[in-house]
Amino acid sequence: MTYTMGVIVLLVAAGRGLRAGGDLPKQYQNLLGRPVMAWTLDAVRAALPGCRVQLVIHPDDAELYEQVIASLPHPPNLLPWVAGGASRQASVRAGLAAIGALCKDAKYVLIHDVARPFLTSTLTSRFISNLLNYNAIIPCLTIFDAVKRIDPDGRLLEEIDRAQLRRIQTPQAFAFDLISSAHQQAFAAGHDDFPDDAAVLQWAGHPVHVCEGEADNMKLTTAEDFARAESQLLNQRADIRIGQGFDVHAFGEGDHVWLGGVKIPHGRAMVGHSDADVVLHALTDAILGALGDGDIGQHFPPSDPQWKGARSDIFLKDALLRVVLRQGLVAHLDVTIICEAPKISPHRETIRAQIAQICALPLDRISVKATTTEQLGFTGRKEGIAAMALATIRLPSSPLTA
Ligand code: MG
Repeated sequence: MTYTMGVIVLLVAAGRGLRAGGDLPKQYQNLLGRPVMAWTLDAVRAALPGCRVQLVIHPDDAELYEQVIASLPHPPNLLPWVAGGASRQASVRAGLAAIGALCKDAKYVLIHDVARPFLTSTLTSRFISNLLNYNAIIPCLTIFDAVKRIDPDGRLLEEIDRAQLRRIQTPQAFAFDLISSAHQQAFAAGHDDFPDDAAVLQWAGHPVHVCEGEADNMKLTTAEDFARAESQLLNQRADIRIGQGFDVHAFGEGDHVWLGGVKIPHGRAMVGHSDADVVLHALTDAILGALGDGDIGQHFPPSDPQWKGARSDIFLKDALLRVVLRQGLVAHLDVTIICEAPKISPHRETIRAQIAQICALPLDRISVKATTTEQLGFTGRKEGIAAMALATIRLPSSPLTA
């Protein structure tokens, strides 16, 4: 997409974020079974397709970070991570320096808190159109509650005119060179504690404009925020769809079969253009079915030599990416393997865990069952293996906005 050319997302993820409770910084804690950072990266991927992403993390979190990235079926276009500093400002400065060194074409930067996983394409497109007119634009919310000052003892003082006040969110979008030099100037002048990047730019003497933010673009701070974010993730995706998939491959010469991404020793192999993994093929078609987006043969024609001998997780991951790009989520996957042999029960949990890993889903959202056909039909005659799958996915019922 051309409108993201020259746009880099800087994700600030170096904070310790322990106010949410638990042992882990909040960006690595789970929302619906997946780390917050994974949701945020999926949101960036959907909102700004093709955009490069610079993460700034705490060096102690390198392993946690690598785990999150490895879990994503399709991570966005990531630049190498950089270590953050002692303050938010120092972390952003490090990220901007890394972008400046690597991306000579950097024109705009969207600086975003990793703890805001509800970034939408509606908000980012509002930015991109405004960036043509302004060098700095940040999202804000109008305040509808009365706002009053209190004293240190909690006694009410005067009313404040809320018409002039706004709640400020991220991402904050800037012309890259302008915000980079403002950060360098602020640091050189000994300032290292600005609350956000708009404040750095204002200090450097440049105007910052606002655009309408989104009420759902919440920042996760406390344990209560996590509970609210989980229901928001589900409520925003209330269009529940179920898709079905079915696949068969015949036995041929060989000593193992692939089922659900697991290599299982067997006296025969499965014949197919790819690795002939009926389980992953049926799951791929089930997800495509739920999306109403064709079938595996349409997206990966058997006539195309590049899929010869391919591992079938690439087909499943492609279907999962289509869910991410629609800003949806996979709620559940259920597969039934139909064969007389090999026996599935010794491998059932391994297959289940492998599917969960490929899909970056919690184990309790994956079901693997097996049955025979009582020696009837082609599976009964041990001519091949069949698999049936159902995928339940949740899609936004309308574009994700406030
Ligand atoms: Mg197949």
